[in-house]
Amino acid sequence: MIAVLSPDCSLRDKAEVVRLVEGYGLRVQVSETDEASLVAVIGQGGEAIAEVLRTHHAVREVRTDAPPYTLVAREQRPEGSRIRIDGFVIGGDEIVVMAGPCAVESRDGILAAARAVAAGGGRILRGGAFKPRTSPYSFQGLGEEGLELLAEARAETGLSVVTEVVATAEVPVVAELADVLQVGARNMQNFRLLSAVGEQPRPVLLKRGMMATIEELLLAAEYVVTAGNPRVMLCERGIRTYETATRNTLDIAAVPVLKERTHLPVIVDPSHAAGRREIVPALARAAIAAGADGLIVEVHPRPEEALSDGRQSLDPEGFVLLMEELRSMAAAIGRHVAPAPGAVVPDTPEPANSPAIRGSR
Ligand code: PEP
Ligand code: MN
Repeated sequence: MIAVLSPDCSLRDKAEVVRLVEGYGLRVQVSETDEASLVAVIGQGGEAIAEVLRTHHAVREVRTDAPPYTLVAREQRPEGSRIRIDGFVIGGDEIVVMAGPCAVESRDGILAAARAVAAGGGRILRGGAFKPRTSPYSFQGLGEEGLELLAEARAETGLSVVTEVVATAEVPVVAELADVLQVGARNMQNFRLLSAVGEQPRPVLLKRGMMATIEELLLAAEYVVTAGNPRVMLCERGIRTYETATRNTLDIAAVPVLKERTHLPVIVDPSHAAGRREIVPALARAAIAAGADGLIVEVHPRPEEALSDGRQSLDPEGFVLLMEELRSMAAAIGRHVAPAPGAVVPDTPEPANSPAIRGSR
């Protein structure tokens, strides 16, 4: 529920409305737009005080039909959230590409992958140290050793690091070594884990559960934000449908729908949607065209030898070609791909009237 206050209301009025709501044991989030001050009521049972709020002279309107995900709703920040990491921004005009192997498998492997990602123009290195595998007999990841190898790859290449955290107890160690914490599709509704990543300061990449609706994804993000961490990105990675020609069905419509409903940046994972590398570039292009703020793509120095998801991983040459296509696609919609750390800004034609944010690095 949201109370819309008159634009000319006094600070005292605002404070009164806030106190009134808090008096019912509820929390508030106050935000300002050009036309009004919004007091969002956070917590259960807010509807009961709708009538009381309506009688306050500073309240112009009470919206009881506001979405249940108060903090991440677009209305809270119509201009969209920008997440700054290591001198670049996700959610601005730049499109940020995260790439790397499904799992960190060895020191040589992750260093080779990181070099390929940096050379191709990626900005963030991905790689699972803790892997949530469907079978208990599959490779489970190198754990903390994998995190240390990711940190070594970051030190060498300057790439930032995104890696998955699968258990609440491991949040502190992952947060210490990674720049972005990934919550995987299988854990999207692990509510204790969502709160735990909400209580630490690193940005979170929250993947959509394979059977989750968009509203469930937004409510999962709300868990993270309400626990104290507003730096959340959402990731569409394909959902399970009756179709078997792809590993998952990439819900490309989720991109504009999320953009409409939330201020959080939207990332697309074409690799886990596709399940095979041949169609990854087409899905990646479609994601950019649909308005995604970034991509997370699996790249392996030798996909045929990968311990997980090799079939859907691009090799380094494939990644270079993909990045070239993405730069053209981004330019066509007035955006550009964030250059690799330390790279000379790629020679992409600047579209007319583009509010490019080159200076942000
Ligand atoms: C992954 O990124 O390797 C992964 C396991 O993804 P998802 O959670 O989307 O299946
Ligand atoms: Mn994978």
